[in-house]
Amino acid sequence: MADKNAIEVRGASKIFGTGEAQVAALDNVSVSIRENEFFTLLGPSGCGKTTLLRLIAGFDYPTDGEILLYGQDIAPLPPFKRPVNTVFQSYALFPHMTVAQNIAFGLEMLGKPRAEIDGRVAEMLRLVRMEALKDRRTSQISGGQQQRVALARALAPQPKVLLLDEPLSALDYKLRKEMQIELKRLQNQTGITFIFVTHDQEEALTMSDRIAVMSSGRILQVGSPWDIYDRPAERFVADFIGETNFLDADVVSATGDGRATVRLSSGVEIPATFPASVMPEGKVTIVIRPEHARVAAPNGTSAHVGHIENVVYLGTDTHFHVRLDDGTPFIVRQQNSRNGNSQTSFAAAERVGIEFGRDVAQILKD
Ligand code: ATP
Repeated sequence: MADKNAIEVRGASKIFGTGEAQVAALDNVSVSIRENEFFTLLGPSGCGKTTLLRLIAGFDYPTDGEILLYGQDIAPLPPFKRPVNTVFQSYALFPHMTVAQNIAFGLEMLGKPRAEIDGRVAEMLRLVRMEALKDRRTSQISGGQQQRVALARALAPQPKVLLLDEPLSALDYKLRKEMQIELKRLQNQTGITFIFVTHDQEEALTMSDRIAVMSSGRILQVGSPWDIYDRPAERFVADFIGETNFLDADVVSATGDGRATVRLSSGVEIPATFPASVMPEGKVTIVIRPEHARVAAPNGTSAHVGHIENVVYLGTDTHFHVRLDDGTPFIVRQQNSRNGNSQTSFAAAERVGIEFGRDVAQILKD
């Protein structure tokens, strides 16, 4: 992947309202989005995702800070002059027009010659696999098909950056899953930089090259899906991206390469990693994902000991809800495979030991 920046947001803030009604929708946000990357803004409702997208599109202006597109400040450019296009949650298609006419619309507005428009529309129909329905009105096709047309229409003028604001949220679960794969394919095939907004962590992990996790108008962490899931820097990020366990620990030693040894409240020492921006010491919180731990009969190597409060069978997995002897809740997720690996089963109220895989503990920033 090229390391050239398509978009650079520098210290952008956006304040809505005045006096007591003032809301900082964005609070000094800086982020660089690379050319050709599938970049996702992920966070709960109201964290500022749409506001950031609107500033990039030019539908709104920052109160402070600047936005560069390939190194150029885009503040003077109105939305239609930016090489940026947006796909909205409500596809905003013209219902009385055909699929092909909808895709052609933006190109016609740009005054492109007919032959070029026809060629581009044919190419887009192929790209989103809608050739067979090109003469149907968009009021006569399904939600998933409408989504494809909206994508084709936005991609037709060959924008450098495509902004997607929760474009899959109106689709049912199965179609959503299909469209996630489809979107990733479209991004790969076109090489256009995608900036995708969602509050759905699974969606973000499935599609993104990198994810920015947002909360209350700020970006807390930017990284690959692996970084965000396995090496969360803050409690909010760890908690927002899937189920997890937090444990108190004391730092025994830490080295400059991001590796440490921590002592759990049980007295057992385990290795842990930590974010580059901190040098941990004293009391810390560590995070361990449920699938990186297992329950076993308590023994001398158990990291913690406790009792099972609840067992939840979920087909592929079983979740064991354990209460550790120090009172902390802890969830273990074990796969239910019949691949020859013996699985020990435990029932509610049984005493169990918790064991960890290698390199699974991450120290959080304070
Ligand atoms: P959602 O997932 O619900 O769309 P979001 O993360 O996209 O949320 P934004 O729409 O960017 O969040 O809103 C961020 C904050 O700014 C919210 O508190 C919102 O109420 C506020 N806000 C957004 N637009 C305006 C506006 N035009 N006037 C006043 N406040 C606004």
